[in-house]
Amino acid sequence: MTMPASFDNSYSRLPASLHASVRPTPVAEPALIEVNLPLALELGLDPALFTAEVAVGNRLLPGTAPIAQAYAGHQFGHFVPQLGDGRAILLGEVVDRNGIRRDIQLKGAGPTPFSRRGDGRAALGPVLREYLVSEAMHALGIPSTRALAAATTGEKVYREAALPGAVLTRVAKSHIRVGTFQYFAARRDRDSLSVLVDHVIARHYPAAATSDNRALALLDSVMLAQARLVARWAGIGFIHGVMNTDNMSVSGETIDYGPCAFMDRYDPATVFSSIDEYGRYAYANQPAIAQWNLARFAETLIPFLDPDREAAIAVATQRIEAFPALFTDQWTDVFRAKIGLASAEDADADLIHALLDAMHGAGADFTLTFRRLSLGEAVPELDAWLGQWRTRLQRDRQSNDQQLALMRASNPAYIPRNHLVEAMIEAAVERADPEPFRTMLQVLLSPYSEQEGMDRYAAAPAETGQAYRTFCGT
Ligand code: AMP
Ligand code: MG
Repeated sequence: MTMPASFDNSYSRLPASLHASVRPTPVAEPALIEVNLPLALELGLDPALFTAEVAVGNRLLPGTAPIAQAYAGHQFGHFVPQLGDGRAILLGEVVDRNGIRRDIQLKGAGPTPFSRRGDGRAALGPVLREYLVSEAMHALGIPSTRALAAATTGEKVYREAALPGAVLTRVAKSHIRVGTFQYFAARRDRDSLSVLVDHVIARHYPAAATSDNRALALLDSVMLAQARLVARWAGIGFIHGVMNTDNMSVSGETIDYGPCAFMDRYDPATVFSSIDEYGRYAYANQPAIAQWNLARFAETLIPFLDPDREAAIAVATQRIEAFPALFTDQWTDVFRAKIGLASAEDADADLIHALLDAMHGAGADFTLTFRRLSLGEAVPELDAWLGQWRTRLQRDRQSNDQQLALMRASNPAYIPRNHLVEAMIEAAVERADPEPFRTMLQVLLSPYSEQEGMDRYAAAPAETGQAYRTFCGT
């Protein structure tokens, strides 16, 4: 089976203000760790194309047109007018088997014109973390960038210590961020912004193309996609960790896995990232931050929303102020399914909050508690709440079996547990042992069914008395 790779690079054909041509910098000794066969086939690519040389960028597939994309961004609330792909190179795009255009990007492939003082490289640990977590997210049903391949470079990267270098081949519906819009808005480059608006509508939100107000339809579409995404994160206890505007994809996929982590015990104030001193990106803050980022996005669209600036600001403000209600609807839908409800009643949100409050009070493990409820197992610490819940379930239109099936499909048995992610990375980095990565990946690809002999991947971590900390994955 040989399928020629058929690239069609629409972004590199856009005006030169949006990107810079750059070639990956060859590395000494490439070696493959993993190639994602099902994903390669979904993309219409022969998995055999992804040799070690290709996966590190030493050899380019025919038809690629490598570029680094320009973008800006608010990092922890501070605007940086120029970030851009400093260590990622977009090879090109393919149209997949479902007719969806997908970016193929190498992360860690060497310096670009946007690298500033960075080396353009990635270390093995963060590459494996992103591979594992992004594929786990996809298997959980959460929109996410995907991992197509991972390979080591045979070279060291220098962080606090010398670490093995690696390259991740990442696939996304696009890598266009809120920060991409901000880059041109900050330069008052209305022509480039207009090109970007057209490109994003055509690529991600074609229904907006026929609207009387295309920019407003775009804003509405991006807001809905983000509300959905962040609500789904909440449903699985995911904390992105660095929700800067340059790390928010306008397509609504989870992107840029750095210090992300999953909550073990339920606590809305949970923060893992060592650099998030004030808890800006804590679990419970994610919706408010999404709203803040979307306000920055809306600002970039002001020139297109209405010829009258005041009117444009008014409509944008009205939309952004409506975000909490939009989010609450999505959130309530996610958690209704988690407690087995196919019908909706006004008081459902209160019932869900009562459960979460009880879990918080009891220090209950987020994932295990919902899974136990889904399996009909006893959860003694929730006794008081269970009565209210059963009464509500009786008014639902589904049978009890259907309710439990919905719950088992909404409450995973397996998430990437932080302590296991750390152990997996340690094995790969310290002992060059890829087995824990492979085994854990296999388990996480079927998160909604119990797998024999894999109990330790479902278990909560042992109490260490020490808070888990993550570090920015550069
Ligand atoms: P991140 O924290 O990964 O979202 O990256 C923020 C910005 O820093 C982006 O513009 C990245 O391209 C850039 N960056 C991160 N790591 C490196 C690196 N090792 N070399 C060059 N640029 C980097
Ligand atoms: Mg980033």
